[in-house]
Formats: sequence, structure tokens, C-alpha cells
Amino acid sequence: MPVGERRKSAIVEVGGVKIGGLHPIVVQSMTNTDTADVAATVNQVMDLARAGSELVRVTVNTEDAAAAVPRIADALDKFGVRVPLVGDFHYNGHILLRKYPACARALAKYRINPGNVNIGKKHDDNFRTMIEAAIEYHRPVRIGVNWGSLDQALLTRLMDENAASPRPLDASAVTMKALVVSAIESARAAEQYGLPHDRIILSAKVSGVQDLVSVYRALAAEGDYPLHVGLTEAGLGSKGIVATTAGLAILLQEGIGDTIRASLTPLPNGDRTEEVIVCQQILQALGLRSFTPQVTACPGCGRTTSTFFQEMADQIQTYLRERMPVWKERHPGVEEMRVAVMGCIVNGPGESKHANIGISLPGTFEEPKAPVFVDGRLLKTLKGDRIVEEFIAILDEYVAARYGAEPA
Ligand code: SF4
Repeated sequence: MPVGERRKSAIVEVGGVKIGGLHPIVVQSMTNTDTADVAATVNQVMDLARAGSELVRVTVNTEDAAAAVPRIADALDKFGVRVPLVGDFHYNGHILLRKYPACARALAKYRINPGNVNIGKKHDDNFRTMIEAAIEYHRPVRIGVNWGSLDQALLTRLMDENAASPRPLDASAVTMKALVVSAIESARAAEQYGLPHDRIILSAKVSGVQDLVSVYRALAAEGDYPLHVGLTEAGLGSKGIVATTAGLAILLQEGIGDTIRASLTPLPNGDRTEEVIVCQQILQALGLRSFTPQVTACPGCGRTTSTFFQEMADQIQTYLRERMPVWKERHPGVEEMRVAVMGCIVNGPGESKHANIGISLPGTFEEPKAPVFVDGRLLKTLKGDRIVEEFIAILDEYVAARYGAEPA
């Protein structure tokens, strides 16, 4: 497939959100609260949705969690948060979906892990029970394979076949193949049980970037199921963000991926919404979607000795993000706006002219003034202690004028 051309997949609708085809790549996330704790889960789902998560997955691991799901959905509805909820099932999904029909109805999609539902076993076909629930409640499923919980019977079968082959692959290659085979065979079994083709999304997650790329290339070549892409157990901090970005960027650039998640490990008391922001930033950096105005800021150097410039760049980025929920309702197109905050005269005026609106702060030994450029032209020069406030006021005026005035 030519680089940059989107792979054509089937379209699956999840609670009104269309995934696949040429629809925008959907950002999703997952809570880390105890789902049985309704208040904590509602709060976190709302945080994730407000940050821009278009689907939110919750674990449904116990009877208490299953009983809580419809209450969570009701509370979100009362708060006006319409984000579709996805149920993450392992081991006992067949029991919970049958015993808690209100849970099954409240969820917009079921995630099924073929590695722990006894798929293929003659007398305990839990997988089939879950698919039948999806058929009954008209819900799509994600068949989500993970190399940490790969179907061991399938892996053993493929290892045996490989050992008998004249040109055996190494064990790692067989494991990667098993991920793809598990996803595809499970999807075909679901269709045989009666689930329509356009209600199936696939994923096959691994924790290494190169493995991720090769597994998803293989999966993409195996049919037109929409693909949920993400690196599993991406990790903490910059390691998790960089690894996720590296893997997703390669695949998205090849047109592979219809919905994405960044499986970052938050720091203790860290902000769960980071995984949403990272997904948005990846899509925006690749030019695939726009979510929030982008701030171009130079890295600073010996010509910027104070922290004023860093603080200003941060304040402006934060301001833009905080205003976006209101702006995106009132000023369509504002998410495409480019803002430059630059540290000195070397690249400051030039970069500011390339942006919709830019400011070039004075570097060391420069005259203490900050020219502001709007659509490539010098608008005015700011001086004194209120440069940030004055720049934000200019920004507000620009947004209102360029993207439509706010109603009174
Ligand atoms: S624009 Fe100026 S302050 Fe910023 S990195 Fe370049 S030389 Fe340094």
C-alpha cells in the first residue's frame, strides 16, 4: 500500500462513533479505577471524555463491576457525557454478559480476548456465548489478542507445525504469526456464529515496536476488519510515549489503524488523560486529524537566559487546551490554528510569520520588546510586565475574528 494511503476497512459503528473506512481515526482510552466504584469511574470517564477520548473502555471483571456499568452509564448521561463505553472482558465475560443484561445493554462494544475465553474447546465455548450476546444486543466486538495472554493451544499447534516444516521459523516469528492467526480465526468463528462482518474490530498487541509493526502489517493484509492499534504495556513516562509514538507513527503512515490507544502507565496520582493527549498529538503531528491549536516553540538556548520564555510557551499551550472545549463549539476550524512562541530574534520573527499568530520574545541583550505577527504581518510590539496577558487578548480577538465571533 502506498505510504500515506489509508487502508480500506469495513466500517463498524460503536455507540454512534464510526470506526474504519475513511472515517477519522478514533482516539480511545481506558479507565484504571475499580469499575465497581461508580463515582470514581464516572469521574475518570468524564475526565477522559473531556480530554477528547471518543470511546472509553472499562474493565468488567466481577459481578459488582457488571452491576455498576449501567449505573455508570446513567450517571454519565445525567452529566451530559455521551461517550460510548466499551466493556473489557477476560475469563468470565460469558457469565457476566448473560447474568447482567443491563450491563450488556449499557456497553457499546465488548472486548473479547481469545486467549482466555476457551475458544475452540468443545464443551466450554465461552467465546460463542459472548458472540451470541453481541448478536442479541446488536453490539460490535473487538477481538483483542495480546501476546501476554495468547491462546496457548493455538500457539502449541503452530509451534508443532513449524517444527515439522522444512524451513522452520524462530519461536518469536511463530508467536507473532500466532497473534495474527488467533485474531483472524476468532473473527471468522464469530461470523460463523452469526455476528455480521461489520461488527468486528481486531487488535493484536505486543510491547515491542518492531513486533507491533510486523504484526499489524500482517493483520492488515488478512482482510478488511478495522484495526485497533496500540502498543501494549507501553510503560512509564517518556519511554512509553516515545515507544507508542514510534510504533503508531509507522503504521499510521502506512494507512494502518482505524482507532488508537496509548497504553501508558501513569505515575502514582498521575493524570490518566495523558494517554488521550498523546494519541491526539500523534494524529495531529502526522497531519491526520486536528484537535487543538499547535504551539511552535523553539527549544531555547544560551540566548534565552530567563525562564520567562518557557513559562510563556507553557501558559499559552495550557490556555489553548483549556479554551478548546468552548472554542470548538463556537469557532469551527480553530483546531487548525498555529501559534508560535519564540525565544529570540534569530528564528523568532521568521517562525512567527509562518504561524497564524506568533510572538518573538527578546533574547539576552536584545531590546526588551516582543513583536507580534498575525497572518505573516507585524501587528504590534508588546513591552513591559503584561506581555502574556496582552498576547492572550490578541489571540482571543484573532480567534473570534478568524473563526467566527462568539455569541453574546
Ligand atoms: S530562536 Fe533564538 S532563543 Fe530560540 S533556539 Fe533559536 S537562537 Fe535560541
